Order: sequence, then structure tokens, then C-alpha cells
Amino acid sequence: MATLDCQLCRVCTMQVESPEHALLQCMLDRETVEWRQELREAVLRERNWDIPVSLSSEEALPLGQTADF
Ligand SMILES: [Zn+2]
Repeated sequence: MATLDCQLCRVCTMQVESPEHALLQCMLDRETVEWRQELREAVLRERNWDIPVSLSSEEALPLGQTADF
């Protein structure tokens, strides 16, 4: 039938919808962002593991690109 194998995110409609995008990248759904923040804090407390805030945001760029100001 259709050859559409990647569906755009229904929240931001800018990126392909995937579990990774929905959970870690999409910033347009406020509830998800807040939930993600709580999850980050819980994981950091329990496991001492810092989840990147957003894999697609500038803040999550590799350390080699540290800003100089
Ligand atoms: Zn999205």
C-alpha cells in the first residue's frame, strides 16, 4: 500500500516520530517536558546517571564544542 514509512511527530510535526524523539527530543509538549525533567531527576538520584536534556538541543552538543564566552 502506502510507502510512507516515517510519520512526522504529531506534536511538533517537524521531526519523524519515534520513541526516542517523543521521550527525549520533542520539546513542544509541556507535560512531556515536565515529566521528562522529573524522570531525569529521579534517575540522577537513584542511579547517578545524567540523562541528556535533549539530544537535539544545542545544550546537548558534544563537549568538544564548548562555547567560549
Ligand atoms: Zn515532536
